[in-house]
Amino acid sequence: MQYDHILIRYGEMSLKGKNIKQFIIRLQENIQQKIKEFPNAKVKRTQGRMFVLLNGHDPEPVMDKLQNVFGIHSLSLAIKVENDLEKIKEASLYALKKNEDIHKFKVSVKRIAKDFPIRSQEMNQILGGHLLKNTEDILVDVHHPDLEVKVEIRMEATYITSSVVPGLGGLPVGTSGKSLLLLSGGIDSPVAGFLAMKRGVQLEAIHFHSPPFTSERAKQKVLDLSRQLTKYGKAIKIHIVPFTKLQQEIFREMPEDYAMTIMRRMMFRISERVCEKESILSLTTGENLGQVASQTMESMHTINEVTNYPIIRPLITMDKQEVIQISERIGTYETSILPYEDCCTIFVPKSPKTKPKREKVNYYESTHDFSASIEEAINGIETVKITDQSNVEESFHDLF
Ligand code: ATP
Ligand code: MG
Repeated sequence: MQYDHILIRYGEMSLKGKNIKQFIIRLQENIQQKIKEFPNAKVKRTQGRMFVLLNGHDPEPVMDKLQNVFGIHSLSLAIKVENDLEKIKEASLYALKKNEDIHKFKVSVKRIAKDFPIRSQEMNQILGGHLLKNTEDILVDVHHPDLEVKVEIRMEATYITSSVVPGLGGLPVGTSGKSLLLLSGGIDSPVAGFLAMKRGVQLEAIHFHSPPFTSERAKQKVLDLSRQLTKYGKAIKIHIVPFTKLQQEIFREMPEDYAMTIMRRMMFRISERVCEKESILSLTTGENLGQVASQTMESMHTINEVTNYPIIRPLITMDKQEVIQISERIGTYETSILPYEDCCTIFVPKSPKTKPKREKVNYYESTHDFSASIEEAINGIETVKITDQSNVEESFHDLF
């Protein structure tokens, strides 16, 4: 006997009214895509939930993949047997014994197929007795069990499940449209990307790169972070913007204490152009209120002036420690803390304005024409498509 099914519950999505159908179909596609390396495994929908039919694959590696799919509330390994008392007994015992450190259990039978001759209450007793007889040092405790063996007798078959494993929650990636993630090599932006994905957002990314001040290694780091994010969703297109010339021009032509603010505004302007090209309707950043000079209220107000696209800032109110915890959990932390040169850290002015004013920035910007350098940066964008299977799938230079 072996677990042959994984039961998938999708909680929050069941509240989504008339969108529900589209959400469920997307979830099913996302799951099928995530487990495509297990060729025999199939995803099936039934009333209010889904199953993965393992068709001979080991359950654990499939389960690991499913734990990274947004939209899944919880998961359980399950066994499907005929509606036959002996088979149900055998499968219940298997499900109980598969779990370690169980001292107290309970059996919960739900009889949906009313033509099954034994009623739920009686089944609870029969199965409870069977499990007690065939195990040692285990008691029944209906109030505080370590494990609940759930038996669902349906028309087509009986399903037996035991432990419930939490899923990632959230909404299936792709159900909330696309956002362009401003991805640096730091700790914050990958976490911001993960949290946007959690709400069903599909990501593309943009990275501002300033060779030779920032190295190939810094660029590789951002590609690696993108690949880590694909673990939770789909392939990610990342647009790498050659930023050196524009950045040098800003630092040469603008007052030093405003250069940082103007550089950020340029990032948003260029990002918005990429959005237009790619039919993306929002930006996502790792900004966090009060963390550094560029993230004061005044600074955000001034930087934000150049775009009216919605900006998703999932980290805006978080403490650094909370961000680090998520980053460790999702597997980006180790990469993020590798030493690297960010275009923003290379050109840090000695004393950036912590309260930059819109009027002043607009005045300074009006004294110099940056448009040629902006166009040059945009025309030089390299787009790389990252999948979770390979390092780099394809790289091209023809976005604009
Ligand atoms: P992170 O840890 O994400 O680098 P941070 O705390 O270092 O963030 P900043 O350097 O002020 O903060 O950057 C704020 C946000 O601006 C980043 O989270 C990211 O979304 C964006 N950003 C900064 N530098 C770059 C870059 N080189 N390319 C793309 N986006 C960037
Ligand atoms: Mg940074």
